[in-house]
Amino acid sequence: MKKPLGLYIHIPFCQAKCAYCDFYSMSGATEENMSRYADALLLQMQDYSKAAKAYIVDTVFIGGGTPTVLTVKLLSEIIDGIYRNFDVSKNVEFTLEANPATVSTGSLSKYRHAGVNRLSLGLQSANDDELSALSRIHSRADFEASYYAARKAKFDNINVDIMYGIPLQTAESFTRTLDYVTGLAPEHISMYGLKIEDGTPFALRRDSLILPDEDTEADMYFDGIRYLEAKGYRHYEISNFARPGFECRHNLKYWNCDEYLGLGCAAHSYFSNMRFSFKRNMGLYIDAMEADIEGGGMLTDDGTSISHDQFRAAELVDEMYSIAPGERVGEYIMLRLRLADGISSAEFASRFGLNFDAIYGRKLQLYIDNGFMTYDGDRYAFTPKGMFVSNYILSNILDFDEDSHIITSVCDGSDK
Ligand code: SF4
Repeated sequence: MKKPLGLYIHIPFCQAKCAYCDFYSMSGATEENMSRYADALLLQMQDYSKAAKAYIVDTVFIGGGTPTVLTVKLLSEIIDGIYRNFDVSKNVEFTLEANPATVSTGSLSKYRHAGVNRLSLGLQSANDDELSALSRIHSRADFEASYYAARKAKFDNINVDIMYGIPLQTAESFTRTLDYVTGLAPEHISMYGLKIEDGTPFALRRDSLILPDEDTEADMYFDGIRYLEAKGYRHYEISNFARPGFECRHNLKYWNCDEYLGLGCAAHSYFSNMRFSFKRNMGLYIDAMEADIEGGGMLTDDGTSISHDQFRAAELVDEMYSIAPGERVGEYIMLRLRLADGISSAEFASRFGLNFDAIYGRKLQLYIDNGFMTYDGDRYAFTPKGMFVSNYILSNILDFDEDSHIITSVCDGSDK
């Protein structure tokens, strides 16, 4: 029987860069570059199709960047390439990320017919002054047009991203965003807190940003949870809410430590018991994949002949490692505790042959006593208060050392 696999495809292009974003994407790429990148992706799919023969792809996520800045023709070729190169389950959850103002009913209908069945739209805020402060390229009206275009194109599984803690935002304006988005009744809502990431334009002008203070930001998070739950959305992960049955199956793979393959520059994978990522360098990615087209062996600078696989691995792979048993436990704890279901001691014992209570029970008792966690005799889980400070608690629970490969960068499932 084939093993299930999630497939992630990274598209590193955006119409314009948002001031807070540190995802690997660039604005101003030429059509020629986009076309070469799409061709390179198709070649990489072909390469990995052999390694993925033992798998059935049951989730696909095309993210970025903004995949929908590609022409309909290029994006359709990529979607077709996925179906051609991999054994895709009939029951696949196939998500496409889109920025409002880059889609229409016509383009969305084409993607829907090509096999996409879930759309993730980045709204961030329903207030135009806040969207401008984030330097988003769309207004609330643009978002609304895209949302209704998606419904018209028969998308019945839509995620909307919103953010709290953004410049100019107040408790009242955040409530307006919650009110607006729930009024549209998407199946899934992701609610992220703004992080000022190093190297972004926001980081450079951090001191001049008018941001909600920490207490207001915490209140927004807790109020958001209460609001969304009251509207029938289950808070199933730190930042994610869904109507029953609409939890994002692809992102659940990250949090459940299941296998996924990420293709394209900057993509991460957990595949065949290896974790690896490709470099954040689109030019290098295209060059390395195009080098493959010529066929035959390749010569390195010192004249040694190497295979294309070795060449690409040397050129493209940023990090690659197998996970030591101790790290596997740490990863599992860190990722599973993001979920509202938390960790079951019985499941932990059957997965690792270890007694969770005996190892972690004493450490966790402090957080249970102070309302950051719950324990029902089997399951340990964060309360909303614990989720808000989960990174801090996790670093106390787990003994990180300098060489630890415990992943932090690909686990939040954030769409944007
Ligand atoms: S937030 Fe999304 S749309 Fe904005 S630059 Fe980043 S990837 Fe592009």
